[in-house]
Amino acid sequence: MLNYQNTLTTAGGRITCPRCIAKSSRTQSQCRRPALKSSGKNQKCSSHGGKSTGPKTAEGKARIAAAHFIHGEATKQARAGYSRSSAYLSHLEDALRVVGALEGRRIQGRKPKGYEPVRTLDGVLAMITLDMELNKAGAPPGRGSAI
Ligand SMILES: [Zn+2]
Repeated sequence: MLNYQNTLTTAGGRITCPRCIAKSSRTQSQCRRPALKSSGKNQKCSSHGGKSTGPKTAEGKARIAAAHFIHGEATKQARAGYSRSSAYLSHLEDALRVVGALEGRRIQGRKPKGYEPVRTLDGVLAMITLDMELNKAGAPPGRGSAI
């Protein structure tokens, strides 16, 4: 783990200023340039986005929110699909526990977005009904479950 240095001392120890906290993806080392004063909390030099303070107007913010933002190897839509599929699996687990077909430890960790626990037999029936309707509509299994 890299220890970041927040300050940079220069001019023979006479000047101490904020240091850019950008990290090289190749060498994993911290940038050696001083951060811009205008970068504020960003604490970046001009090469690493210190001049940018993000969109200010409502139009600019909407444009960024609507962009096909890719993090890792998945798009925003793909991540939403993974979350829906994961919620569907959690609903199936709940349904199996309600009907008594599954016992033992529950799946640990954070539950996905859109997950609402299914604890009653009526909830299981509602889940199955909604799933059948979505399958009639041509949606792939687990891709549109809204319970
Ligand atoms: Zn930098």
